Amino acid sequence: MRRKLAAGNWKMNGTPEMLAELSTLTGGEDGPQILICPPAPLLTRAADVTLGSKVEIGGQDCHANTSGAHTGDIAASMLKDAGATAVIVGHSERRADHAETDAHVRAKAEAAYAAGLTAIICIGESEEERLGPDCLDIIAAQLDGSTPDTATADNTVIAYEPIWAIGTGRVPTMAQIVETHDMIRANLTARFGDAGAHMRVLYGGSVKPTNAAEIFQAENVDGALVGGASLKASDFQPIIDALA
Ligand code: 13P
Repeated sequence: MRRKLAAGNWKMNGTPEMLAELSTLTGGEDGPQILICPPAPLLTRAADVTLGSKVEIGGQDCHANTSGAHTGDIAASMLKDAGATAVIVGHSERRADHAETDAHVRAKAEAAYAAGLTAIICIGESEEERLGPDCLDIIAAQLDGSTPDTATADNTVIAYEPIWAIGTGRVPTMAQIVETHDMIRANLTARFGDAGAHMRVLYGGSVKPTNAAEIFQAENVDGALVGGASLKASDFQPIIDALA
């Protein structure tokens, strides 16, 4: 059994005032795991607010090194010290804005493991790639290149996020979601055996209260990585509920 996961990525959004809503999120006794990744300056406050609640806190990125002359960057151990249990690595916005390659993402995931954090490794195609003949091969290559050999079902979550579906209100067809997630599962199982069968694979890209339940019907969709709809509890809670 793979435990469902509702993960919220606040990106470069969020104020201290918004943190109060976090403690109201709930998943029931055996419900899904709930994770919110606020901007780094809000992490310690978010950890305080959610102490004793169902909500876990994560980072949005980490550096591959443990310390050093890397102005503006954050080490995985610092996220851990701030109260994080997980960190997103390789989000398409970081791949685009900061020229991160699969090799960088893999190194960041290894740094996350070393700090005791779960790495949420993001992959996903551009619109042009989706329209081309090699889409699944491109995603498979990203998965392979971005995931460390030491990945386990405990330390790794894969997030499939088609770039063209992020923040656009557009989502792939259910057939595309099923096909892509099935391919990811097959690749993970071929490479990691039982661990690959148990590794969670999230869908991300314009998940809303209105489409979550349908997306979650796919066998190999184990939850969602949610951007815009994670900013308000009134949007995120129904998405959590759709996983229960
Ligand atoms: P949206 O849910 O706003 O489309 O963002 C998805 C995403 O990029 C989560 O990491």
